[in-house]
Amino acid sequence: MNTHKIVFATGNQGKVLEIKEIMKDFLEKHNVELHSLKEEGIKADIVEDGKTFEENAIIKAKAIAELTDAIVMADDSGLEVDYLDKAPGIYSARFLGEDTSYDVKNTYILDKLTDVKGDDRSARFVCVIACFMPDGTSFTVRGTIEGIIADKISGENGFGYDPIFYVPEFGCTTAELPPEKKNEISHRGRALAGAMEKLDRML
Ligand code: IMP
Repeated sequence: MNTHKIVFATGNQGKVLEIKEIMKDFLEKHNVELHSLKEEGIKADIVEDGKTFEENAIIKAKAIAELTDAIVMADDSGLEVDYLDKAPGIYSARFLGEDTSYDVKNTYILDKLTDVKGDDRSARFVCVIACFMPDGTSFTVRGTIEGIIADKISGENGFGYDPIFYVPEFGCTTAELPPEKKNEISHRGRALAGAMEKLDRML
């Protein structure tokens, strides 16, 4: 059986570990090695100046695809709060400044929504995965999870906006879910599942 290689275009080693865990069965089934940029020895300074999650994921994947013969995957994700016109959206990491703590970012969003009730607090996490194949073809997959902005910060798991993202179906924030459960139902988990379904037919 042929061995395939996927390079995941991120400098975040934690994200690669999470993705390896989510894709474990798929990687074994297709004899695929998944490597981070660091593991591949690729250094790239990519300017993410797209206007959508799709554009940013494509910018990242395309830049790396030019440096390797492997399959390249990249993701772009963030939180959309409907009441804030879908902010922070693609600016989620940079919202209120790259170095600003998530306690501050989350408190800011809670304060903005103080007088907003019920369904008007709707929000979603979005993740888009772009995949560039060695033959030059490419595709994107979008995964989302719908929720509402919680009334207060709760939970210790996860990262970023997880402590204010309440999922009515589970009756808690994504920071209160066990990591395996979050991976199963999250925007990233869903986008990766879609990408694996497509790759399944291509490998
Ligand atoms: P990136 O796609 O890794 O650049 O992530 C963008 C930003 O979106 C992160 O820095 C977080 O602020 C936010 N974000 C993305 N996914 C999640 C999540 O699962 N939980 C909480 N915040 C997230």
